[in-house]
Amino acid sequence: MTGKLLIENVWLADGTGAPLRKCACLTDDSGRIASIEKGGSACAAETVVAGNGKILAPGFIDAHGHSDISALASPECFSKISQGVTAEICGNCGLSAFPVTPENRSHLEELYANYGKTIAWSSCAGYREAVRNAGALLDLYPLCGHNTLRAAVRGYGEGEASAEEISKMCGLLDEILEQGAPGLSFGLLYTPGVFATPGEIGALMTRVAGAGKICTAHLRSEGDRLLESVSEMIELALEAGLKRFHISHMKTAGKANFHKLAPLLGLIDEARNRGLEISCDRYPYTESMTQLSVILPGAWGKMDDGTLKRTLADPENLLRLAEELRRSRTPEEWERCRIVSCTHPKYRAFQGKKITAAGPDPALTAAEILAFDPVNAQAAFSGMSEENMRRIIQLPYCVGGSDGNALPPDRRFGASHPRAFGALAKFVRLLLDMGSSPENAVRKVTGLTAELFSLPDAGLAAPGRRADMVLFDPDTIDGNADFSAPETPASGIAYVFKNGEIVYSSRS
Ligand SMILES: [Zn+2]
Repeated sequence: MTGKLLIENVWLADGTGAPLRKCACLTDDSGRIASIEKGGSACAAETVVAGNGKILAPGFIDAHGHSDISALASPECFSKISQGVTAEICGNCGLSAFPVTPENRSHLEELYANYGKTIAWSSCAGYREAVRNAGALLDLYPLCGHNTLRAAVRGYGEGEASAEEISKMCGLLDEILEQGAPGLSFGLLYTPGVFATPGEIGALMTRVAGAGKICTAHLRSEGDRLLESVSEMIELALEAGLKRFHISHMKTAGKANFHKLAPLLGLIDEARNRGLEISCDRYPYTESMTQLSVILPGAWGKMDDGTLKRTLADPENLLRLAEELRRSRTPEEWERCRIVSCTHPKYRAFQGKKITAAGPDPALTAAEILAFDPVNAQAAFSGMSEENMRRIIQLPYCVGGSDGNALPPDRRFGASHPRAFGALAKFVRLLLDMGSSPENAVRKVTGLTAELFSLPDAGLAAPGRRADMVLFDPDTIDGNADFSAPETPASGIAYVFKNGEIVYSSRS
């Protein structure tokens, strides 16, 4: 047998969790796996890659990404590909790039302006076509984001959706699921998802249940009201007849909530026993990252980015916000806040540093950053338990997710949380260090994710499957990025293959 590419002398972790086996892998002209042969191989191929006893696995799947637009703007998707990730579930936390209507178009354009891409689509199908045309190396599986969906019908304003509006959302959602979205994501902390009533959430879940797909959620609260937030979603999901519910970046945020992991796992087990298959993803870091605007108190927090920027253009309003921030946040809370990315010329140099380092008055610093460019002001917040993170990662239903974007190695689109360049590699590292078998660690970033989200052509390495694979060294695989050098590539990734082509190689 002759083929295109022969990867010889490897241990195969095929994504199913089956024990490693020594083999050689041959691909064909169509970019698929032609054969996997035990031991050595007598096959001939145009290109031979020496595996040197490393592990060959299906390309990793990032269960929780936000590359919706960045993958179009930077199709080589370096931050992902360089850590072995060849596919991603995007459209997370309620935010997808569709459906687009006159109600949400200008907001989405503003949100994505940084990437210099025009939104030339309105539907899920149109968006997927744009991804294909851009030639993104990363396969994107976009969830429908509830916030985008809600805004497509009634904008970003406050208030309950009427029965008619909910029915419109359901209609749009049906179309989107039919066009191949693997499910619906909620972002109930963010505008306008935060205004959704249980009735609205339940109605949408019923449609997802009918389509046999999955719902994911960035919960209303990941800390003080974590258990109530999970219970709310579980009850609604069961009532809607949903079969699969996925908790995004599962955590117990804030020291006062660290003890809630045991009751949280209790709630999940109970729901699983009642027929709801609950899963979760987790990034292997204890600092979260989100828009700096999440710190806004009271009425400020209900403004969308455009309104906020317009309001803060008045210097009096800016000072008023600074005063309210001073009153609403403790010095300890400011200490835990880090500027990850901002475009304000005065504060650019403090990207990656604590906000308290940027000036004597963090409240004023925050207000100025938000007034300048709220869309691109990203902040990290420490306050997660390392021990709980490790326990969550080991849960049999937890898969690897970065919560990061596909980014180029330069800072063209702003600085990032280290998770964008290291999350999946670090996830595998932690699992191996905690005693997981390599085949299990691999399954949690490949086959299991593909199962949960019903991905048709990812997550398994077998003859006939697409040759999207990663060759890595289990001794050295790790995510090495940190806040001081967030673009540091992962280590231990020897080769990444996409459709049988070498798309990344390192000398590690
Ligand atoms: Zn989220």
